[in-house]
Amino acid sequence: MLGKFIVFEGLDGSGISTQSGLLYDYFSKKGKKTVLTKEQTNGLIGGLIKAGLRHEWKTTPLALQLLFAADRSHHLDKQINPAINNGKIVICDRYILSTLAFGSLDVDMQFLKEINSKFPAPDITFILDVLPKICLQRITKSRFHAELFEEEEKLNKIRKAYLSLKNYFPNTFVIDGNRSIEEVHKDIVKIVEEQIKEK
Ligand code: ADP
Repeated sequence: MLGKFIVFEGLDGSGISTQSGLLYDYFSKKGKKTVLTKEQTNGLIGGLIKAGLRHEWKTTPLALQLLFAADRSHHLDKQINPAINNGKIVICDRYILSTLAFGSLDVDMQFLKEINSKFPAPDITFILDVLPKICLQRITKSRFHAELFEEEEKLNKIRKAYLSLKNYFPNTFVIDGNRSIEEVHKDIVKIVEEQIKEK
């Protein structure tokens, strides 16, 4: 039996790693074979991307997006698809919608869709929708500063892009992630159980 491919998307600070970790624990406790993974990956190509994002080497937005696609292709072939073919549940922290939402700040969205068009749709996609102001508060763990205004504007654009993509893949659920970790987790479990039961 094939496994399931569940993806979490959202802004930094929206709770993606918290919620993907909690869902992993939920399945593990139920004795389901589950893999928790993320993009960019911790592999060689992911390392290049991370260093590029930190400006440790100079690249272009286009080259960076091509690296993201290469990283994804490798990740699918080496980790995600083999696990799904083995009947495991794969939970992935960020996937194609993050590329489209973040990448389209600098690179044409249509081109990003094209270079990602050969990759499989997830079985379930969660977009954790959180107000940028709240994301920034969570990340900086301090009160909102005026100098973060520019960052908030940029995050607003990315948040709108995520929401505009809610019909890009079937079985995509926009979750109000402004609530407590527990409330968000409960909603996610409910949806996952319903979705798995239906198929
Ligand atoms: P992401 O992976 O989306 O960047 P994280 O899951 O790492 O976000 O969360 C960023 C910070 O916000 C962490 O300190 C985490 O504990 C906190 N956090 C996550 N979800 C919530 C929530 N629903 N309410 C309050 N704080 C949260």
